[in-house]
Amino acid sequence: MNAKEKEEVQRKIYQDLYQLQLKNTKPKPISELNLSSGDEADVAMAALFYNEELVLSNREKATLRDLQNALKRLEEKDFDSCIECGQQISVKRLLANPITQFCLQCKEELEKTKEDLYGQANNEKINDSLYQ
Ligand SMILES: [Zn+2]
Repeated sequence: MNAKEKEEVQRKIYQDLYQLQLKNTKPKPISELNLSSGDEADVAMAALFYNEELVLSNREKATLRDLQNALKRLEEKDFDSCIECGQQISVKRLLANPITQFCLQCKEELEKTKEDLYGQANNEKINDSLYQ
């Protein structure tokens, strides 16, 4: 993954964080955030951590945590490596689903197992197949 692609994935994570926040809060006026820079991503992040009144469902909390972890992982060299087989995860796939830690192949294997266990697919799988 080159620097530009990494930036795109980072932007996508910020956008997802921002969407999650918008859905659950009345955004505070930017003036209250005390930000000197007007960068959209900075504003989104600051607002996210500033606002303690976020009311999130458990699922949304998990998504929030995943997105924050993905941001941290983005700084690591092996961010785009599948944690199962070590193969590179495509940028296209990361842009569609930046919190994924599996390549498509491993994800499909995983889903198969999950489907066997629960007898149904989850939303993430539907998302994945849309973008691949
Ligand atoms: Zn894999």
